[in-house]
Amino acid sequence: MIKTDVVIIGAGPTGLFCAHQLGVIGLKCEIIDNLDKAGGQCIELYPDKPIYDIPAIPECTGEELTKNLLKQIKPFNFKIHVSQRVEKVSKEGINWKLTTSSKIEFLSPNIVIAGGVGSFEPRKFSVKECEKFENNSIFYSIKDKSIFNGKIVSIFGGGDSALDWAIELSKNSKVILVHRRDEFRGASSSVDKVKQLKKENKIELFTMYQLSKVSGDNNLESMEIKHDDGTTKSFKTDYLLGFFGLIMQLGPILDWGLNFDKKTIKVNTENFETNQKGIFAIGDICLYPGKLKLILSGFHEGALAARGCFKYARPDEKLRFEFTTTSKAIRERLGK
Ligand SMILES: Cc1cc2nc3c(=O)[nH]c(=O)nc-3n(C[C@H](O)[C@H](O)[C@H](O)COP(=O)(O)OP(=O)(O)OC[C@H]3O[C@@H](n4cnc5c(N)ncnc54)[C@H](O)[C@@H]3O)c2cc1C
Repeated sequence: MIKTDVVIIGAGPTGLFCAHQLGVIGLKCEIIDNLDKAGGQCIELYPDKPIYDIPAIPECTGEELTKNLLKQIKPFNFKIHVSQRVEKVSKEGINWKLTTSSKIEFLSPNIVIAGGVGSFEPRKFSVKECEKFENNSIFYSIKDKSIFNGKIVSIFGGGDSALDWAIELSKNSKVILVHRRDEFRGASSSVDKVKQLKKENKIELFTMYQLSKVSGDNNLESMEIKHDDGTTKSFKTDYLLGFFGLIMQLGPILDWGLNFDKKTIKVNTENFETNQKGIFAIGDICLYPGKLKLILSGFHEGALAARGCFKYARPDEKLRFEFTTTSKAIRERLGK
């Protein structure tokens, strides 16, 4: 069980800047995100798109903003627990207990929900039996490509991820690429490369097919794909990889007794606390009159929520307002 002053759910721009503000006022935090990296929408949806409305930064990309936010919190050494969703939140005395999908438990008097539009989840195969093989023979993202060496890997999808992985894995595996359309969405250079690899018999390509059946005992052994015209083909396969894009799901947050209005949580504008004491909500997920779903609003909300957390984390202390440059204590925390 990890004990801390604050648990931040969501490592998007808002959660990351809130962590900075917690560090500045001397509180510890742990950050959890369902994605395999920090950055939220900026990194997942538009890493290369320019952003023009971050104060004093005339232009930066989503990726640059994320890198700079991570650099800004580096002095505090806060841990970011990636690739896991916060599933359960319950009250334990004056603390909140959180459990993630990786079964890690946290105990803290404060939770800051910076969950944006929800956790990004992969779109999955519609064939029901696939669930049985998930994280064993069927994957929606790749952590360690070496497991596919010398195996038969069937990749489904028509975007950049499917094409890039088909090209990469064809170096050491037998690759079968299946797409439900005739046209690919990925970069034309990748489409050309896949076609060239097909000519060289390094990739088997099937378009206008979808997965119709999987079978195997503990591990996957074979699959069946079905053409739009109804005909089917069966193959031996060791792994299935599905790259169908991401969907955003609020998921378990909806069950934590919070004051929801559609997909947002109502908060006060003094410190962005919700209807539950010690649970704050900031960024795209919070709602108050005049709320703007912009990164700069999330930064302001994070700064005030951090101060709101102080009273529960240090009930016997009073927080004094100080500037980062003139406070010796803050400069020390920042390593300056
Ligand atoms: C195409 C596009 C362009 C945009 N351009 C701009 C722009 O130019 N300027 C601007 O200011 N804004 C822009 N925005 C909006 C901006 O990206 C959002 O306002 C901002 O990302 C909100 O940040 P956030 O930290 O609140 O949430 P997010 O960025 O959505 O991050 C939330 C994180 O929480 C995680 N999460 C959610 N639930 C859980 C859970 N239960 N467990 C674990 N993790 C969880 C998610 O995986 C996600 O990583 C744009 C948005 C889009 C889609």
